Amino acid sequence: MTSKKKINKKDIAKLLSEWSQEFTVFVPWRDEGVAKWAKWDGKDASFLDWYRNTIVPPKAIFLPPVEGMFSFQKGKEGYHIELPPSDRRKELIFGIRPCDAKALAILDMIFSDTYEDPYYLARRKNGVLVGLGCVNPYDSRFCTSLGSSPTDSTNVDLMLTDVGDELLVEVITDKGKELMTKTSLAQAATQADEARARGEREVAYNKVTRQLDTKDIEKKLLANFDNKDYWEKIAAKCISCGICTFLCPTCYCFDINDELIKNQGERFKSWDSCAFPLYTKMPMENPRAEKWRRLRQKVCHKYEFYPINFDVIACTGCGRCIRLCPVNWDITQTLDSLPTKEKVKLEK
Ligand code: SF4
Ligand code: SF4
Repeated sequence: MTSKKKINKKDIAKLLSEWSQEFTVFVPWRDEGVAKWAKWDGKDASFLDWYRNTIVPPKAIFLPPVEGMFSFQKGKEGYHIELPPSDRRKELIFGIRPCDAKALAILDMIFSDTYEDPYYLARRKNGVLVGLGCVNPYDSRFCTSLGSSPTDSTNVDLMLTDVGDELLVEVITDKGKELMTKTSLAQAATQADEARARGEREVAYNKVTRQLDTKDIEKKLLANFDNKDYWEKIAAKCISCGICTFLCPTCYCFDINDELIKNQGERFKSWDSCAFPLYTKMPMENPRAEKWRRLRQKVCHKYEFYPINFDVIACTGCGRCIRLCPVNWDITQTLDSLPTKEKVKLEK
């Protein structure tokens, strides 16, 4: 289902006000120099001028860094448990980039697998994604090597493409169709608008110059799994800060803890990272005490284990881990430098 409209950029604030009647609207926001997602303030749509992508990905809306699961109270007859209110408002993410929408689709797979996560899934069910094509992608981005593009509309409900003073609007899903019935600000797009959008998409695609050869990547990683020399070299400069995992839109590891004061408390989950030495600590051993094992886990999880389980590489090529790593560790260099046939026999 695809039908096209357009909306003037000057009307975006009005549009967001209309949608705010029903949804909690999130937009890109600058907070002390850091671009992240925030509830719209009801006025400012200037993000359209400066926004390239947020540092903190939109997974933080669906999988908050810290989230209460339930509170509990210990009484004479055992524990009384109270769940958080379930009548949450619907959330609308305005301007999500295609790579981050794809990341949510990747997270959906794990959170709806054997152990469903009701907290994440409830938010996703109620959420609406309004995508905005990425016309000025960062140099670190390599989404086109992973089957996507800066204007990929696959995982959003509505897709917007910047065509100068206006945004071309494509309805992608039923949710997107319903959203467009809640506004009268859009007009029918002309063939000239559509031709312009096609041109912008091509320009944006060609701006992604970083490439990664993913052919046989799972086999190469499997063949190098025990290549300690290689992984030690790759991990040498990593300082195990965890930034690349916290800010990766497809990383989802979390810890669960109880906070207890006398007889009452709260159980909460919080982001965790396989980059931390304590992450896999168990009473008798720690299978990833050494840094190279942890970095290997991160790379193999995304490019080997996830494809085996879900048939998709759990990396969108958003480039955050490259752009934001304090020691310039680069996942594309890591994968490009995997020893191949000369040193390692690939499976036939
Ligand atoms: S961001 Fe860089 S230094 Fe920090 S854990 Fe990741 S690879 Fe290591
Ligand atoms: S591994 Fe890096 S490039 Fe891939 S999705 Fe995560 S942050 Fe983005």
